Amino acid sequence: MSQLYTMCECNSSVWRMAESRLTTTYGEFLLMAYWSVAEPGEHLAIIKGTFPLREPVLVRLHSQCLTGEVLGSLQCDCGEQLHEAFSAIKSKSSGVLLYLPQEGRGIGLVNKIRAYALQEKGVDTVEANIKLGFAPDQRHYGVAAGILKDLGIRSVRLLTNNPDKIQGLEQHGVQVCARVPIITSANGKNNFYLAAKQKRLGHLFGITGVEPSEVESANGVAENISDGIPATLGTAVK
Ligand SMILES: [Zn+2]
Repeated sequence: MSQLYTMCECNSSVWRMAESRLTTTYGEFLLMAYWSVAEPGEHLAIIKGTFPLREPVLVRLHSQCLTGEVLGSLQCDCGEQLHEAFSAIKSKSSGVLLYLPQEGRGIGLVNKIRAYALQEKGVDTVEANIKLGFAPDQRHYGVAAGILKDLGIRSVRLLTNNPDKIQGLEQHGVQVCARVPIITSANGKNNFYLAAKQKRLGHLFGITGVEPSEVESANGVAENISDGIPATLGTAVK
């Protein structure tokens, strides 16, 4: 990891701006801050351990959610997903969480608050983004792929319920060998939001009691998930 920047295949560059150790309740990490002309904001790589050559690395692409993670909003499941992702990485000898400046599926905090106001009037999270003039999901994963490549990671076991993240990484040359689902529970306030993500955005939810019990790796072999995450139904990545 000696180079200062990496040119990824989407022609967007990522620049490594700073790095330090970080001690958290989930253990010791290396914290690296990246910048990219392709997407504004600070992109963080939170890294545990070292990566064995040619073995897929446990990775989470986590989109920033100030309302859910800092303010404790019950209207989404982002805070719980972040906790589950860190817990999964904590249980392994190595892993990476990329914390991406993609508030509100990429529309930014101000527009996300506008979208919440629309949702108070009864529209769902997808329709709210459309009414504001955005796509239902504005996010792209070229910068995330560029950061992973800068870290020397070419294949991953991806902690996600979102098929777009799998496709987004593979489009940019990072192989997704398996999907590791993240289990969250509906809390009574976010049921409508979770249903919209499942039905309208195709998320592969492991909401407790809804989906069954194992995930399939890319080669079709059933894989028991023992990352500290309760088993749930997964979908083969390819
Ligand atoms: Zn959220």
